[in-house]
Amino acid sequence: MSLKYDYVIVGAGIVGLAVANEIKSRRPASRIAVLEKESELGRHASGRNSGVLHCGIYYAGDTVKAQVCAKGGKRMMQFAQEHSIPFEKSGKVILATSEGDMATVDRLLRNAAENGICAYKIDDAELHKFEPYAAHAAAAIYCPDTAVIDSRTVLEQLRNLLSRQGVDFFWDCEVQTPLGEDRLKTSKGIFSFGFLFNCAGAYADTLAKKFGLARDLALIPFKGIYWKLSERVNHLVRSNIYPVPDVSLPFLGVHLTRVISGDVYVGPTAIPALGRENYGVLQGARIGEAAGILGRLAGMYLRNSNNFRKLAHAELGKYGKANFLSAAQRLVPCLVDEDLVHTPKAGIRPQLVNVRTHSLEMDYIFEQTESSIHVLNSISPAFTSSLAFAEMIVDRSNAV
Ligand SMILES: Cc1cc2nc3c(=O)[nH]c(=O)nc-3n(C[C@H](O)[C@H](O)[C@H](O)COP(=O)(O)OP(=O)(O)OC[C@H]3O[C@@H](n4cnc5c(N)ncnc54)[C@H](O)[C@@H]3O)c2cc1C
Repeated sequence: MSLKYDYVIVGAGIVGLAVANEIKSRRPASRIAVLEKESELGRHASGRNSGVLHCGIYYAGDTVKAQVCAKGGKRMMQFAQEHSIPFEKSGKVILATSEGDMATVDRLLRNAAENGICAYKIDDAELHKFEPYAAHAAAAIYCPDTAVIDSRTVLEQLRNLLSRQGVDFFWDCEVQTPLGEDRLKTSKGIFSFGFLFNCAGAYADTLAKKFGLARDLALIPFKGIYWKLSERVNHLVRSNIYPVPDVSLPFLGVHLTRVISGDVYVGPTAIPALGRENYGVLQGARIGEAAGILGRLAGMYLRNSNNFRKLAHAELGKYGKANFLSAAQRLVPCLVDEDLVHTPKAGIRPQLVNVRTHSLEMDYIFEQTESSIHVLNSISPAFTSSLAFAEMIVDRSNAV
């Protein structure tokens, strides 16, 4: 006996919910099940992120990210307006703190021009009109279309909307293995599907492998730890202050973000983690998984792919508050040790590495069978992108 659905979606993160929403908008009468191994929404990346709706300036025009980030951000703000979800289009500045950053500044501005993104190069005086306490910068970029939103509120609204439209949610329902082309074994029994969408975030690659896919891909999780500014110095940051990133890496660097509640978060780090859900020091780490990850990390370190040694040294140091503080001081120099307050906020980026080229995958990846599509490397800015990303996923599936 199995439960039968037209579409089964694995994972109730933002990508799975956005895919369900897209299918419902195209085929309102379809029967959809969302299978989620946790008992509630937002336990992983979609509920643990910075809550920034990125404008898309980081991505070259030939990437999937460029195709869906700016569009997705606009659609998310429209969705927020339609459903009375608070968001703030507060803008952001990206600071070049050394002459070496200037080539990247030009590259980011080229990306913006190519992708129709509003961004201006500003000088030090203009920068300090936006952010009076920011470091002096050789140059800076101002992005007026960056916004902040509470990601958990978005997840809840989407879930409520989908439930009202008849989508069935199964909580504590871990998808274990496919049974042929159209059935799945789960911890809650067997499900039959017309088409399957694998949106399992940090576990999407393990499920894809059970379908005989993702053979060249393996996971290296990176932990993002945050600190918060104490209330006393909260006024030092008006909106979002980011560094010019190292474009050989899929991370944006420690930044300061005034979130929708008014708190200012500092982070996240990109520290190699010991497991897909290793949010604490050892919590969530499993021995077998950790051994595989350590092996891949050692390979990346030895080959120095994606400038990995520099990343590893800089990021591991950020477990210590002093190193973390100095990353923040590069953006806001007047910060001192007691200005950073501990927070439990931490997230994991399920970063995929290509085991043939030994390099980090920078873009979203899709792999398919006749009756399933697998969304891999769903890293930042997948929250921003989600509504446009879902449109692309459903188009590619050819199933709706
Ligand atoms: C620290 C951090 C900061 C970030 N900041 C931003 C930002 O500011 N802006 C932005 O756009 N993006 C940001 N991101 C990225 C963004 O949060 C993620 O890309 C996005 O949330 C991924 O969504 P998802 O649905 O693919 O994954 P998830 O949210 O992880 O959802 C996947 C779901 O699948 C479930 N699942 C897994 N395996 C199974 C299984 N076998 N059976 C059933 N269910 C399963 C999981 O429990 C989970 O709920 C950030 C990420 C991190 C970690």
